[in-house]
Amino acid sequence: TVATIAIMALTACSSRGTTSGDSSSTIKKGDTIGVALPAKTSQNWVLAKAAFEKSITAAGFKADVQYAAATNTVPDQQNEVSAMVTKGDKVIIVAAQDGSQLGTQVKAAKAAGAIVIAWDRNLTGTKNVDYYVAFNNFKVGQLQGQALLDGMAAKKATGPYNIELFAGSPDDANAPIFFNGAMSILQPKIDDGTLKVASGETKFQQVSTQGWLAQNAQSRMSDLLTKNYSAATPTLDGVLSPNDTLGRAILTAVKAAGKPYPIVTGQDSETASIPLIMQGIQYSTIYKNTQDEAQAAVDLVVTLSKGQKPATVVDKNNYNGVITVPSVELTPILVTKANAAEAYKDNPTLEPLTK
Ligand code: BGC
Repeated sequence: TVATIAIMALTACSSRGTTSGDSSSTIKKGDTIGVALPAKTSQNWVLAKAAFEKSITAAGFKADVQYAAATNTVPDQQNEVSAMVTKGDKVIIVAAQDGSQLGTQVKAAKAAGAIVIAWDRNLTGTKNVDYYVAFNNFKVGQLQGQALLDGMAAKKATGPYNIELFAGSPDDANAPIFFNGAMSILQPKIDDGTLKVASGETKFQQVSTQGWLAQNAQSRMSDLLTKNYSAATPTLDGVLSPNDTLGRAILTAVKAAGKPYPIVTGQDSETASIPLIMQGIQYSTIYKNTQDEAQAAVDLVVTLSKGQKPATVVDKNNYNGVITVPSVELTPILVTKANAAEAYKDNPTLEPLTK
């Protein structure tokens, strides 16, 4: 629309005078790109280190990739980003452990002339972030919400369906976006009575999973089953799960309670979940190719190193409380048993799991 184009034009103009534009001309081959990853709470993060090292090295830069430790995650990542600034890394890419806790460190990074790129997870409450590279998080949630409806309809033609909702960790800026995307599909069906949430827990704060930790989702699912799905109440038809790790934890809790498996969604195409999808135990996942996501960030750096302006989009979901961070967004793919072989055909690790 005209309005959107006008906003994009404004954004393009206003970013010209910022330090990011000025310092970008100084990035050159051989410079170090720092990458600060969160703790390894899901397989995508495990894959991210090698993905970045491959893309960064191939583009002629040096890679400095660090993970937050499993404990003291936030201070550990703060120290790593500070160290990257001290080392003089020209670009600092951050997948935040807690997106709201790195304001001081990225301010120092900008003061030192580095480019700051939020990767996969946005940095919040700061103007000191130049770009955000991620899959379209709202779209991920929409795909999950639609998959939940489709999976339940395939089992039982008409509702009402009994569902429960789970979201990711409140310290991850992605978590509410995934949830809002899913609820954009599910809320109208709750409102018209097609979906029933027996627990009544439908707010993000009620359904979030601290730290994205499997044990937190598993214990909440066990509690929900005990309190709301005892003998007198109907079966649980579906569970909105924001990722595969939590999806498997939810399935484990259902099994332990001796109940039939509901339709359960997921995300990440984890190697532990794909066989479950092929067996009809987990219904769906989302494919977000980590190598492509790392490559998109490195492509952006290459563009800057040539003194060119990267192509970005304005997505209101990427407002971080201070600015709407100019974004590069990749497209997530919904995967069920029906399209798994096709979706993973170019991935030598995942494709064999669909057999
Ligand atoms: C990522 C997901 C991942 C989750 C838990 C999110 O920020 O986008 O892919 O499942 O973190 O690690």
